[in-house]
Amino acid sequence: DSTAAVTAEMVDDVARKHFPPCMLNLYERLKRDHHLKHFGRLQLGLFLKGIGLPLEEAVVFWRRMYGSTMTDDKFNKEYRYNIRHSYGQEGRRANYPPKSCTQILTSNQPGTQDSHGCPFRHFSPENLQSFLLSTYPQLERGSPDMRDIMDSVKSSHYHVACTRVFEITHNVKRGEGLGNSESVSHPNKWTDRSRELEKEKLAILNG
Ligand code: SF4
Repeated sequence: DSTAAVTAEMVDDVARKHFPPCMLNLYERLKRDHHLKHFGRLQLGLFLKGIGLPLEEAVVFWRRMYGSTMTDDKFNKEYRYNIRHSYGQEGRRANYPPKSCTQILTSNQPGTQDSHGCPFRHFSPENLQSFLLSTYPQLERGSPDMRDIMDSVKSSHYHVACTRVFEITHNVKRGEGLGNSESVSHPNKWTDRSRELEKEKLAILNG
């Protein structure tokens, strides 16, 4: 089962191997700054819930990420509640689902100081290229794949660009990357499919 529990300890490894660009970007920012603004926390937090990080592990994860930038007291007062809230354990006890690509693309447009959103849609073309080049060694400046991706972005086919990145980074043929669904429509689908592919590969290796 691709949504087998993930612990706080495992997030870093899962991120490097299986996070889609939007979540990898948020995670890298969080690691660097020990901070994310509200919508970034929400986007990443609900996604992490979706990949199988249980509430207790989410508390451990966020506490570690904020590190010495805040006291335990501040964390407990201001952040623990919000984490519990997003897991439906406070307030209205609503079980908020992780955000889909459409929601990320169209709601809460990020400002210049924000790191939430979709890199394909919300980064400038230059920033998107540098982000992709520094994140994925499989991509090269000026290569046909890179041109393909940037062309899709130019024509506002962000999910097509994202799907191409998935295919290239998972070494699968065009159109075969995500199984039945044609293109990436949900960040959690990217991760689930990526973990499945890894399992399939391991199964083949182990005979
Ligand atoms: Fe994330 Fe969806 Fe954008 Fe891909 S298309 S980076 S999964 S929001």
